[in-house]
Amino acid sequence: MRSATRSRYYIQCSLNDRVEDWPDERFWDEACLRLGRDVATKVTRGPSFEKSIAPLRSFVSEPMRWGRLFLAGDAAHIVPPTGAKGLNLAASDVIMLSQALREFYRDHSSAGIDSYSERALSRVWKAERFSWWFTSITHRFPNMDGFDRRIQMAELDYIRGSITAQRSLAENYVGLPLETI
Ligand SMILES: Cc1cc2nc3c(=O)[nH]c(=O)nc-3n(C[C@H](O)[C@H](O)[C@H](O)COP(=O)(O)OP(=O)(O)OC[C@H]3O[C@@H](n4cnc5c(N)ncnc54)[C@H](O)[C@@H]3O)c2cc1C
Repeated sequence: MRSATRSRYYIQCSLNDRVEDWPDERFWDEACLRLGRDVATKVTRGPSFEKSIAPLRSFVSEPMRWGRLFLAGDAAHIVPPTGAKGLNLAASDVIMLSQALREFYRDHSSAGIDSYSERALSRVWKAERFSWWFTSITHRFPNMDGFDRRIQMAELDYIRGSITAQRSLAENYVGLPLETI
């Protein structure tokens, strides 16, 4: 939920689809089908005010520093939206980089900017891993075979039945701690 009355929904579709192929009624019908009958009967349908097709990508550019150029946010890394980590990672980069720059200009110490890339990437890769993993268990991919599908179902079943697995998912979903200078 984005507010008491607004939500964002994702359903997997083909990359060859266009937004016009998905009028609201088709979207709701498909979403309800995938949610299952029990949940579908409780869904309140309403008009959409924004719709897009988001290709799923995982990408990291490292190091996040080249000489006097520092990268932060999507310029340095892309995550699939599954883990809702993109903006959060951009914000944590900026917190680390702003502290490092302040230290450089105020205290004349380059320790912060020299370690920025390594510190930021340590958080980035964990979020990349989580987003990639969460995507891999919540989507079907064209080249999946029967074995891959059974492994995926086993992983979902494991999460459903294990408090330890649920804790790990929750810890990553809420966000790993931000280590500042
Ligand atoms: C559909 C969707 C859903 C998302 N949902 C989530 C979510 O739930 N949670 C989450 O954490 N993240 C989410 N994200 C990801 C998040 O939006 C991005 O990771 C985040 O906005 C990255 O911030 P940024 O500042 O690095 O880049 P941006 O927000 O892209 O900012 C870059 C800015 O630079 C400007 N710009 C580009 N080129 C130039 C130029 N040459 N000169 C001047 N300005 C320029 C652009 O106009 C833009 O304003 C979502 C993204 C999408 C597309």
